[in-house]
Amino acid sequence: MISFSDVGKSFGDNHVLRELDLTVAAGERVSIIGPSGSGKTTILRLLMTLESPDTGLIEVGGKPLWDRREGARFDAKEQAQVRRRIGMVFQHFNLFPHMAVLDNVTLSPVQVLGMSHDEAEQRAVELLQLVGLDKHMSHKPGQLSGGQQQRVAIARALAMRPDVMLFDEVTSALDPELIGEVLAVIRDLAHSTAMTMLLVTHEMRFAEEISDRVLMFDSGSVIESGPPSQLLQDPQHERTQRFLKAVL
Ligand code: ATP
Repeated sequence: MISFSDVGKSFGDNHVLRELDLTVAAGERVSIIGPSGSGKTTILRLLMTLESPDTGLIEVGGKPLWDRREGARFDAKEQAQVRRRIGMVFQHFNLFPHMAVLDNVTLSPVQVLGMSHDEAEQRAVELLQLVGLDKHMSHKPGQLSGGQQQRVAIARALAMRPDVMLFDEVTSALDPELIGEVLAVIRDLAHSTAMTMLLVTHEMRFAEEISDRVLMFDSGSVIESGPPSQLLQDPQHERTQRFLKAVL
């Protein structure tokens, strides 16, 4: 479903990704862990086309999202079609503060997918029910708790009917007592849908519970990968052992 082949990305002299090879199968749930600044978020931002790679190929569903190999041509329309299959939930929610919750969820389906307003609204109501926020549809984001805002952000991403969902440290800006409600929504999604999920997380227990595979990332490369029971309980690489000792 997702593949990175020989992908490199630098910001100035900072080589954030180095010849990265990474594949995620359709329907697979993969968590990425690793130290701060190691390039985890950059992977998700490349998939959202919020950053562009310097080298290599990134494909989604067998189609190129980024092709930076020599001689490759770029087709913005094709890229937009591929990109549309992906939804992302950010650390800081990124909701539109001046719009009601319902309008935050209907905006993109109407503007980007060309869905009728009625259909988008019907779908938004269902999604807000799913995340337990149908009673807050007319509220502005600022009237909600951080956990509620993050659940709206999840509903908003789902409204675009993505095949792939990306979650970037979605609980790290939340008060500890609000983390559980957001993780519960993601857990339900993982159990009730076949969506491919890629999560950057510091919540090791959660990663263990919902992932098929965990990737340990350091200095722009995957240094160890395996099922959560193995990677988190019995890591083989010294860097993973040191990292887990520090965070657990
Ligand atoms: P964290 O766990 O702290 O979020 P991360 O592993 O997700 O870290 P990234 O956010 O991918 O790391 O950042 C990797 C490196 O790239 C960091 O050194 C960061 O400062 C740098 N970086 C990321 N985005 C940019 C940018 N737009 N311009 C310049 N440097 C950037």
